[in-house]
Amino acid sequence: MEKELYFKDLGLSESILTAIGKKGYEKPSPIQALCIPRLLEGTKDVIGQAQTGTGKTAAFSLPIIDKIECSKNVQAIVLAPTRELVIQVAEEINSLKGKKKLRILPIYGGSNIVHQMKKLKEGIDIVVGTPGRVIDLLNRKNLVLSDIQYFILDEADEMLNMGFVEDIENILQHTPSEKKMLFFSATMPKEILVIAKRYMRDYEVLAVKNKELTTSLTEQIYFEVTRENKFEALCRVIDIEKDFYGIIFCQTKNDVNDIALKLAERGYDADCIHGDVTQSQREKVLKKFKNQTINILIATDVAARGIDVNNLTHVINYSLPQEAESYVHRIGRTGRAGKEGTAITFVTPREYRKLLHIQKVANTEIVKKKLPKVKEILKNKESNFIETIDSSLEMKNYETYNKLAKKLIEKNENIEELLAAVLKVALGDELESDTYQEIEETSFRSDSRGEMSDRGRRSRKEMHDPTLDGLTRLFIAKGNKDGMNVGQLVGLICAKAKIKRNLIKNAQVFEKFSFVSVPFNEAEMVIKAFQQEKVNQGKQSLVEKAKK
Ligand code: AMP
Repeated sequence: MEKELYFKDLGLSESILTAIGKKGYEKPSPIQALCIPRLLEGTKDVIGQAQTGTGKTAAFSLPIIDKIECSKNVQAIVLAPTRELVIQVAEEINSLKGKKKLRILPIYGGSNIVHQMKKLKEGIDIVVGTPGRVIDLLNRKNLVLSDIQYFILDEADEMLNMGFVEDIENILQHTPSEKKMLFFSATMPKEILVIAKRYMRDYEVLAVKNKELTTSLTEQIYFEVTRENKFEALCRVIDIEKDFYGIIFCQTKNDVNDIALKLAERGYDADCIHGDVTQSQREKVLKKFKNQTINILIATDVAARGIDVNNLTHVINYSLPQEAESYVHRIGRTGRAGKEGTAITFVTPREYRKLLHIQKVANTEIVKKKLPKVKEILKNKESNFIETIDSSLEMKNYETYNKLAKKLIEKNENIEELLAAVLKVALGDELESDTYQEIEETSFRSDSRGEMSDRGRRSRKEMHDPTLDGLTRLFIAKGNKDGMNVGQLVGLICAKAKIKRNLIKNAQVFEKFSFVSVPFNEAEMVIKAFQQEKVNQGKQSLVEKAKK
């Protein structure tokens, strides 16, 4: 059997390992396990074959963060084909740099060039950019690449498809001959190897080998959801079932903790396990899950290994796993022992390509369905309740309440109203529609790159509004119940983080929490400004990046 690798086995420094721990990553993805040691060795240039969503950004950025130091000139440049990807990559690098003082700048067309020029003048260590804007800034002599140690091409195949070859060659002319080059690509067309031969010195191709996989006969479905709606969608999926008994898989420990907390707050019988949970606590949780004291278990892939529960009704992929093999392992936990089971996967626009890849490698069909409507859920809950009352009447197990019932009937003439009041006390808001939040219908559209765009939420104008592209979504752990409204939320953020009001977009205030979107740099400023403000007995920051 292959030896299981952890991040600490890959040769990364302690400070990087701490940053990875903070992100909640438990285990390197296959492409990370393959690339990180080779990049740390630094003897050869590398072409990594990896899909988006397999952890390739961390695969190339962790060794780079570890190796470079803050300096006068740019040390590394990452080229990516779209603004969206540039922002994602810059965010990921920023969140992995830990305590290291590195300055990262995303540059892309449509955003404020004067601001980017100012930042470059102040000093930047890692630039992440689209080719067009990079060339623009090189021509203006604001961007200097003569000292770079790393040149990274992300989604190289897309770059070629989009006709960026000349631009890439142009940018390469501004770089020193002595540098490491890394290309990452989902597919490996001939042209990439041609460019590699022309510009790379000694290089190797690193690709994760796909194993033969077979999936069980579990029903497999997926729902298209946006990041912001995932949790609400999860509640609906659980509530539509009469007897939900399932495992919810997340990619990171942080997500596991977060969902467990939110589910508990909403009154579900849920608990969680992940790599930081002690052995004795893990055993306690598993015991509760097996004897169905709790019916929801939230787990990472690593922590869920070896759990033998046979009668699960559901496995939910809150986020897609990094490899098809994990998908198959996850869903194989339901539909066992001749029982029917359902595997549900939430897919955001960013994850759609990965879903296609998993389907292909796992040789399986995952069928798209629509999320249950609130009306349907309430109807189901009502008929379940009526069934429970019928069986109680049959069993006559309510005798202790006979006297009280008599008293209440004597006092109240209107039996219908009396019963309604009793139901309200017994059920609370269980059957009321406003316990659910709106989920806007989303329809993802595949564009020419096979990427999904989220057509339902963003209008065409918004899609082309540069100020909305590449925004970072922030989660604020305060909502209506804390007396917050949109105006106060925006005011609070402006005052505390000292940012302009018009930079805050799409503020949404819910009962217990809120969201706003702000540009990349401002997002860091807001998080920093609120760093000292904690909630949940000091365990969580008031403002965090919204989870996927
Ligand atoms: P990428 O392929 O770089 O687009 O990464 C896809 C997602 O996986 C990002 O949201 C990362 O934060 C996340 N990710 C990367 N590496 C890991 C890991 N080792 N464990 C869990 N999540 C990860």
